[in-house]
Amino acid sequence: MGKGFFEVPIAVNEPVKDYTPGSPERKEVLATYKEMYDSTVEVPMYINGKDVKTGDTATMAPPHEHEHILGTYHKAEKKHITEAIETALEARKSWANMPWEQRAGIFLRAAELIAGPYRAKINAATMLGQSKTIYQAEIDSACELIDFLRFNVQFMTEIYAEQPESTSGAWNRLEYRPLEGFIYAITPFNFTAIAANLPASAALMGNVVVWKPSDSQVYSAKIILDIFKEAGVPAGVINMVMGDPVMITDTLLASPDFSGIHFTGSTHVFKNIWQKIGTNIHNYKTYPRIVGETGGKDFIVAHKSSNPQQVATAISRGAFEFQGQKCSAASRCYISRGIWEDVKELLVADVNSFKMGSPEDMGNFITAVIHEGSFDKLAGYIDQAKKDSNAEIIVGGGYDKSEGYFIEPTVIVTEDPNYTTMCTELFGPVVTIYIFEDNDWEKTLHLVDETGEYALTGAVFSEDRYALEKAVRILENAAGNFYINDKPTGAVVGQQPFGGARASGTNDKAGSKLNLYRWISPRMVKETFVSPTDYRYPFLG
Ligand code: NAD
Repeated sequence: MGKGFFEVPIAVNEPVKDYTPGSPERKEVLATYKEMYDSTVEVPMYINGKDVKTGDTATMAPPHEHEHILGTYHKAEKKHITEAIETALEARKSWANMPWEQRAGIFLRAAELIAGPYRAKINAATMLGQSKTIYQAEIDSACELIDFLRFNVQFMTEIYAEQPESTSGAWNRLEYRPLEGFIYAITPFNFTAIAANLPASAALMGNVVVWKPSDSQVYSAKIILDIFKEAGVPAGVINMVMGDPVMITDTLLASPDFSGIHFTGSTHVFKNIWQKIGTNIHNYKTYPRIVGETGGKDFIVAHKSSNPQQVATAISRGAFEFQGQKCSAASRCYISRGIWEDVKELLVADVNSFKMGSPEDMGNFITAVIHEGSFDKLAGYIDQAKKDSNAEIIVGGGYDKSEGYFIEPTVIVTEDPNYTTMCTELFGPVVTIYIFEDNDWEKTLHLVDETGEYALTGAVFSEDRYALEKAVRILENAAGNFYINDKPTGAVVGQQPFGGARASGTNDKAGSKLNLYRWISPRMVKETFVSPTDYRYPFLG
């Protein structure tokens, strides 16, 4: 920035629209959904500002109607990945020198395109391709993504304003350079906002990116790309490639110019990638930044003093919205015996009232799980629970993949706090509950802390402040996002920076300044106004 200390618009969270019956937004999104459903798209890769078609394609279908074809996408060969690297490095020469206000302008424009002309489209694509209800699509692909873009611009300027002390004789300046090389962004299926934010946040800070969306999210990734293009992201800055994740990853990680990974997905995939980076460490020109937000086994623990209605509602929403396919979804609950019968009655009534089906019918609270692999895995755990003597399914337990991948919201009660579904991330609409004795509060908190490998989100319910204080203290390391008297899902950018530790990730807190620090490499510039001309210090006499 050469000619002014510009101030960016103050970031505010995008208001969530209601989509009530008869509302204009509901009409618009349903019309867009129908239009997209009735047509097919071809999604090419995007390298150096050009569409790349390879002819090696895969099909896309809505999880709730897997025989209906939405279109195809093109898959890469190794040479396309090499080309994406070369093109990104070429683009870096201009992009890394682009004044920050121009970068800010592009991504602020993207935010407004989503808030306005692209809102119905990106929501409808998320409903169709990832089977989200309109509300789940709106809070993700519209609002969260808009928030990421707006807040990150503000955070960037806050970082740039952080400057060291200077004296009258010397001026100290910190320059927040992008990383030298390219960033590899790998994104999961479950949040359109994350898919866009992982490449965009790095690019905003002046980096160039090769982005690989999940096979199960390509349909809305195409809309993200259309928005980036229209907003003015220059050719080569964000390149989108699809196909075999192992080939793509191995090719990118083998490049000496690989300078960082921005990953969200499952723990085992991330650990594997970390290991590969370690193996390649001697080849890199710079130590790569490794940022990965991974799995969770998120808890709700309810004290005997808590309100059963609030606890039941937190489980109904926290465990079952988007079929439990949120990294933050409640999947293990610990309920005090004194309130259990009330919680059980309310929870079972809630689950029995859920309607399940296509997101096009807005009366449905539950839709399908993402793909057949996930369906089969979940059905397997449900079948096992039906057989196991130490587990009981109190509601749900059915499944059907004839038309879509539908798993009934299922509540398992177990007498064994280490029962497999209390420890393993299932990533579906299955929650397991363990009942503890009213006087075992502290013992239960230690159990919550010590169960499983994750530490992403967790919630405690209590009306007793002493009990609450104990929970906050004992569970300090059990969750990176900790909720008091609230469900453990629904983090909002700028309000609840998101991320967990242990096997849940590097905890670099997407939706905060902390994440952006990972995509810069500061250069300290000291300018001395009058340089010394004699080496002798006064003490030398
Ligand atoms: P996933 O790990 O299957 O896939 C994530 C990405 O990695 C995809 O792009 C996929 O194609 C790619 N991938 C898969 N195998 C790979 C391999 N061998 N090498 C390189 N890349 C590979 O995850 P998913 O099913 O898309 O998403 C669900 C997972 O993501 C859950 O574990 C969930 O908890 C986690 N998640 C975490 C957060 C968070 O903020 N902590 C947010 C969303 C999702």
